[in-house]
Amino acid sequence: MTAAGGRVALVGAGPGDAGLLTARALELIALADVILYDRLIPAEALAGARADAELRYVGKEGGGPSVPQEETEALMLERARSGAFVVRLKGGDPFVFGRGGEEALALAAAGIPFEVVPGVTAGIAAAGYSGIPVTHRGLASGVALIAAHEDPAKDEHSLDWDALARFPGTLVFYMGVRTLPVITKQLLDAGRAGSQPAAVVSHATLPGQRTVTGTLATIAADAAAAEITAPAITVIGDVAALHAELDWRSPGPLEGASVVVTRARAQSSELATRLRRLGAAVIETPSIRIVPRADELPSPEGFDLVCLTSPNGVAILFEKLAARGEDARALAGARVAVIGPGTARALREHGVIADVVAERFVAEGLVESLAGLEVSRALIARAADARDVLPDALRERGAEVVVASLYETLAEPIEPALRGAVETASYITFTSSSTVRYFLESASVAAATRVVSIGPVTSETLRERGIEVHVEAERHDIDGLVAALVRDRAQSA
Ligand code: SAH
Repeated sequence: MTAAGGRVALVGAGPGDAGLLTARALELIALADVILYDRLIPAEALAGARADAELRYVGKEGGGPSVPQEETEALMLERARSGAFVVRLKGGDPFVFGRGGEEALALAAAGIPFEVVPGVTAGIAAAGYSGIPVTHRGLASGVALIAAHEDPAKDEHSLDWDALARFPGTLVFYMGVRTLPVITKQLLDAGRAGSQPAAVVSHATLPGQRTVTGTLATIAADAAAAEITAPAITVIGDVAALHAELDWRSPGPLEGASVVVTRARAQSSELATRLRRLGAAVIETPSIRIVPRADELPSPEGFDLVCLTSPNGVAILFEKLAARGEDARALAGARVAVIGPGTARALREHGVIADVVAERFVAEGLVESLAGLEVSRALIARAADARDVLPDALRERGAEVVVASLYETLAEPIEPALRGAVETASYITFTSSSTVRYFLESASVAAATRVVSIGPVTSETLRERGIEVHVEAERHDIDGLVAALVRDRAQSA
């Protein structure tokens, strides 16, 4: 018997580009109590999960052994039986070589209600993102999706090569790249024409997507010469020739660059997504963690100025207000000043439009922008370890200043598994002095990596630690940082 409410969704996460996640997948990810996910899912897929959801990786460990299928199924059944809503998140489509069918059978046998959310499968996506229509009038009126084993010996028994050679349409192979020589040889031996066009697409829809074209006779050697790596899809059929005319994907300005993002996990996704859209391979290694302080927040009423210095500060201020039954109206009597547009945006989401936004996005900039304003009592809500530029300047002007330390910034050690990627990255981005300080506690910046800083204060912190700053954003926010990085890439590539 199942506990009330327990159910499972077998969800396809698409081939890699987060834009190819379906609306239904995103909806269910946001609702899940438990998410059991595989390796080839988009990096951003889990960003919308609930903070209290159990996220469990059940895929392969860097090419090593997978979590055994029986264990994954047992876990899925166990969680559902205890009443959880489980999302079983798989790359591509759950029923295309994803063992989704086996999992659905296990659920059916156990009497656990389930649903299936189809995903964009890698074979179709790889073709589409390479400008290869898998069916095309006059060239192919059918398409076969075929799994080729990592171990070629197993294939000879499971695949009917004669039938595949005769198949009057496009053949799409899912497989490890090593299998390609076996596949092509079998098809040639079975009589498929060696002159037939073929294409191999690796890392389809991801930054670093590569397409190599040739013929059935040459493609194995072509892919090897191009050093194509997994994951890859091979398309064999006349339609593959259309790649030459229909390859619509222009490489993004950051194609080929790898970029380390060190900001706190809660905020890294916006920057990471922007960078990925521009073609960068992003390595997210938060070096800081934001922890709200238990301190009492003074009531904003009675202050004629409230200053907020970061989106974190805004989020925690409103949490603290809500905890005692207050809302944006608590700020009604005060003018509200913020350091940058990110903070202004966060504030606007709570229905408050900042009266003053600093023109330069540093504390000194806010001091300048407040110059004309009469202030008698100011509340500064900010991080515990922030600089005292702002309170000092306001006090100097005769204001009574109360500083509320809303949150603390703590170190988040770099994950050992990401260390190698961090050390060989093309760029590393620092978005605050604390990201610099805490990153350096557990890692170092490689000599060949270009260092990108959000602004002068962060740059100063880097220089104090002997690190050369190669790029400093002109606008000290995420837009500015991304723009500066793109400009640098254009100049140095
Ligand atoms: N259920 C998945 C397939 C899982 S099998 C789907 O529907 O797409 C894993 C194989 O899919 C890989 O070996 C590779 O051949 C292919 N694959 C998955 N993601 C890919 C990608 N982004 N680019 C190229 N091939 C991919």
